[in-house]
Amino acid sequence: MDVAYAMEKAETLARKFEAWDVQADPNLGTAASRLLYSDLLPQTDFIQSVRAAEARYGSITAGQAKGILNIAIAAVRKAQKEAEAGKTPEQAHGLLPGFYTVVFDQSNPDDYVTLKIKVVENGGLKGKTIVSYLSGSDNENSYTGFAFLNRSNYSVWKKYTGMLARQVEALNLLLGFNTEERFVTREAYALRSSNCSNCGRTLTVPASIHRGLGPDCAARLGVA
Ligand SMILES: [Zn+2]
Repeated sequence: MDVAYAMEKAETLARKFEAWDVQADPNLGTAASRLLYSDLLPQTDFIQSVRAAEARYGSITAGQAKGILNIAIAAVRKAQKEAEAGKTPEQAHGLLPGFYTVVFDQSNPDDYVTLKIKVVENGGLKGKTIVSYLSGSDNENSYTGFAFLNRSNYSVWKKYTGMLARQVEALNLLLGFNTEERFVTREAYALRSSNCSNCGRTLTVPASIHRGLGPDCAARLGVA
């Protein structure tokens, strides 16, 4: 395991890696090269630029390697901490659990798909993130699961392969959206359903709809 090797080294050093550590230990350079395309790494400008450089020159520098190793180690430690705290590890696409109404074309507001993202809390699928779509008239309960959300992408369940084109298109759009655009789809859900886009509960005071969230959930998610 490349990360395990790097982590052990880092713990022995009790500090972050420097370029000379990589120069002194070729195994670290190898580990960094292998980690470069791992979905462990966040999609930052630095990572993108190192990937571009690697594609161009066929190798990475010791300075780039130590950067990758430090980022990978930080990501693992963060995930471990969150796992200990019982939280779901942050996913690379950053799509939070909740309800999203994706309108395909703003000039036709009736052409939309409502998706629900939920982390399974119990049973054999515990910890998995399921994507469902609104398939009935009950805005809270009529959802049909059709895909798993993975760390950086999704996989449609086999029985739906080649089906549910609109739902898959909505999911693709949603994953491509930035934070602001995702809030717009949360608001669209809240406005259509009068439910909170985080917990799905009825918003008792419609005026409290803030970014598609009830007051409690807005506070919980740090949305001011
Ligand atoms: Zn709520």
